Amino acid sequence: MMGFLTGRAYDEQRQRMVDRQIRRRGISDERVLEAMRRVPRHAFVPESQSDAAYADCALPIGFGATISQPYIVALMTEALRTRPALRVLEVGTGSGYQAAVLASCGCRVYTVERVPELHESAAHVLRDTGFSEVRLRLGDGSLGWPEEAPFDRIIVTAAAAAVPPALRDQLVEEGVLVAPIGDDWLQVVRRYRKQGEAFEAEDLEGARFVPLIQDQEDGTTT
Ligand code: SAH
Repeated sequence: MMGFLTGRAYDEQRQRMVDRQIRRRGISDERVLEAMRRVPRHAFVPESQSDAAYADCALPIGFGATISQPYIVALMTEALRTRPALRVLEVGTGSGYQAAVLASCGCRVYTVERVPELHESAAHVLRDTGFSEVRLRLGDGSLGWPEEAPFDRIIVTAAAAAVPPALRDQLVEEGVLVAPIGDDWLQVVRRYRKQGEAFEAEDLEGARFVPLIQDQEDGTTT
């Protein structure tokens, strides 16, 4: 297992991925670049996809979910303006890769996933790759993680028409939230900053994420 995770071929592919797909496209935060050089992305994709782990695209991970394109992971991580020891909530654990990148940046990561199988497998992979400090929860992440709130940063990695109110509420004053906002087909990655009553948005980049499933109080699902 360890030989697999530290395989030199993967290491080389990963350095190339950071240079060509990420640095050249303008991501310059050294902490983010270093995290993406370190986290073994191939460990977070299904074995059948490991040849494509460092390709310039999103990959299916089962249950309708995808591990995001490396560039989008880097862009959203940089947009969050993280610092070591900040408390970061992620909505949509999926493979666990984005959580590992944030942990590798020194953040205290809390991540919520609604599909039990993905939650379980992400927990295993994060442990196997040395990110056992990431805290995982099974449930509806559009409700945040009230027991651990507030958070300095929130990253949503599934698409919604608007930011769920609970997430805004669970963000500290001056906190930053990054989320793909749009319909099921096309979204724009937006960065929000909470300042008193204001929640100012800035559009960063087009993207395509799987939908954020919000289980409504009346039992219907949108
Ligand atoms: N960040 C992930 C990619 C996430 S794909 C990674 O690095 O691999 C989007 C994920 O959001 C899917 O796993 C999907 O099941 C999950 N999801 C959708 N709606 C959700 C919700 N309401 N709460 C928590 N997770 C949700």
